This record gives sequence, structure tokens and C-alpha cells, in this order.
Amino acid sequence: MSDLRELYQEVIVDHSKRPRNFGPLEGANYTAEGYNPLCGDRFSVHLIVRAGRVEDARFEGSGCAISTASASLMTEGIKGKPIEDAEKLFGGVHGLVTGEPAEPPQVDLGKLKILRGVRDFPTRVKCATLAWHTMRAALHGEEQVSTE
Ligand code: ZN
Repeated sequence: MSDLRELYQEVIVDHSKRPRNFGPLEGANYTAEGYNPLCGDRFSVHLIVRAGRVEDARFEGSGCAISTASASLMTEGIKGKPIEDAEKLFGGVHGLVTGEPAEPPQVDLGKLKILRGVRDFPTRVKCATLAWHTMRAALHGEEQVSTE
């Protein structure tokens, strides 16, 4: 458990300081804006989806370390994946941070497993899931999502 905690800190710091896939995305055909009023995190998620696959994913906006790191990890996690897998990752991450695992079929979360560390900070769960909700809203054609 302490290993996970250490890794969690390390990955969160790394991804919040140097977010991957940060900035606008030219040619994005799916975009949504997410807002977490509890913390003030606000992100737009941009996706290029072709033939049922997420070809590219980027995000922009601002938020706390956890929301930024989670958004960064999210874009890395879904890039190149079929939409069904992006949805499965959403379910898996949501279960992981809330402690209510999605019913099987589960999905291999890989590096995203470290987000389990968020469970120690219940008030930050909405920070960690914001980008994921936003990504899902974009895929479902919703332009805005709030974690309230
Ligand atoms: Zn936050």
C-alpha cells in the first residue's frame, strides 16, 4: 500500500507539472467542457474520433494537481483505443476512485491503477473523475458537464 502511495504521489506530481497532450486539437470532431464547482477545475477535452476509434485526444484548461494529472493520464489512456475501450476505462477508473468497482467485464487499467490513491482523499474524487466525465460527455455528444 505504501508503494502505491509513493507511486501515486510521483505520477500525480509528474503529470500535473508536465501534462501530456495539453492544448488545442486541430480537427477535433468531439469536444466537451467539464467543470468541477467544488474545486474550480475547468477543462475542455478534444477528441478526433474516426471509424469508432479515438485517434487523438487533448485537453486544455486549468485545475488542481489531481484533476490535471488525471486528465493527462486520461488522454494517454484512450489515445488509439476503440470507443468501447475508452468507455470501459471510464468505468474502471470511476470504480477505482470511488471504491465502487464497475461490474465485470473489467478492463486492464495499466498505469491508471495509481489513481486508486485518490480514495484516500474523498474530497478529490470529483477532481480525479472530471476529465473522464468530460471525455464521456464528448463521446455522447454533450457539450458541457458538471460534476455536481
Ligand atoms: Zn480539483
